[in-house]
Amino acid sequence: MTLIVEKYGGTSVGTVDRIHAIADRIARSKNAGNDMVVVVSAMAGETDRLTGMARAIGSRPEASPEGKDSQEPISAEFNARELDVLLATGEQVTISLLVLALQSRGVYAKSYTGSQVPIQTDAVYGKARILEINPANVRSDLEAGRVVVIAGFQGIDADGNITTLGRGGSDITAVAMAASLQADECRIYTDVDGVYTADPRIVSTARRLERITMEEMLELSSLGAKVLQTRSVGFAGKYHVPLRVLSSFIDGPGTLITYEVGDMEQPLIAGIAYNGDEAKLTIRGVPDQPGVASR
Ligand code: ADP
Ligand code: ASP
Ligand code: MG
Repeated sequence: MTLIVEKYGGTSVGTVDRIHAIADRIARSKNAGNDMVVVVSAMAGETDRLTGMARAIGSRPEASPEGKDSQEPISAEFNARELDVLLATGEQVTISLLVLALQSRGVYAKSYTGSQVPIQTDAVYGKARILEINPANVRSDLEAGRVVVIAGFQGIDADGNITTLGRGGSDITAVAMAASLQADECRIYTDVDGVYTADPRIVSTARRLERITMEEMLELSSLGAKVLQTRSVGFAGKYHVPLRVLSSFIDGPGTLITYEVGDMEQPLIAGIAYNGDEAKLTIRGVPDQPGVASR
């Protein structure tokens, strides 16, 4: 039996119609005889919407607790805990909707939140690291013939608090589940049909790469190509997870992330990344004297 872990990002589950479309795809793969674990993100825009609501609440002065003089001040860490409780709800919506869509097709499926797996993390809210996954529950559901649908981006710390893994973190959930279950392939389904030589939404002449080495992918991601979350690429490299990036909208081979050393004549540059959050400021005519630069 082939075990496949698939991950669908926000746009791929962005509407009820999209959830039906990926349920069709998963049902086909399951009916072809594969064991299936599916990791989903929140619907597109949902994590931003939740973050915006938390900010709006936090920015109101009257949001401070009643009679706060008599209470301990609320720490930033405590607020971070509550933010993770909020953000983790986005993925909880999509796991249940996808399971309902699968069951309406006669496919037995079961949803899991991060804590139900359990995906054990440290207690760094907002960017928690995965410490351990116990896949026993998931395995017994797979043995019972169910498709297992897991909420991406979330886990649980040693004290039972909900944690989140950082933006784009559903990619790590998928790769970590694939490593822990020793899956035959981990497929990251997204809104482009693979890894390109540059962001295809910005560079119309960018080309899809058939394959890219893990080191190249790590470099592209860490420099801003958000098609794969950087930590997930490092994780895949550490455990040699067979990883492929594909489109959930159109069929195609996507891009395979490989672990082999490239051909001798392989180009030195695989792609170009950009980061829209950085600016460069040049100050001209600074005299070359000690102390001027710092002043
Ligand atoms: P998801 O919600 O499925 O996780 P993301 O928005 O995180 O999807 O990542 C997919 C996006 O990554 C694409 O829509 C594309 O604009 C962007 N991207 C940036 N660089 C690249 C690249 N080199 N190849 C492909 N996509 C890229
Ligand atoms: N929903 C989370 C985010 O928007 C995690 C993810 O989509 O991977 O960052
Ligand atoms: Mg992403």
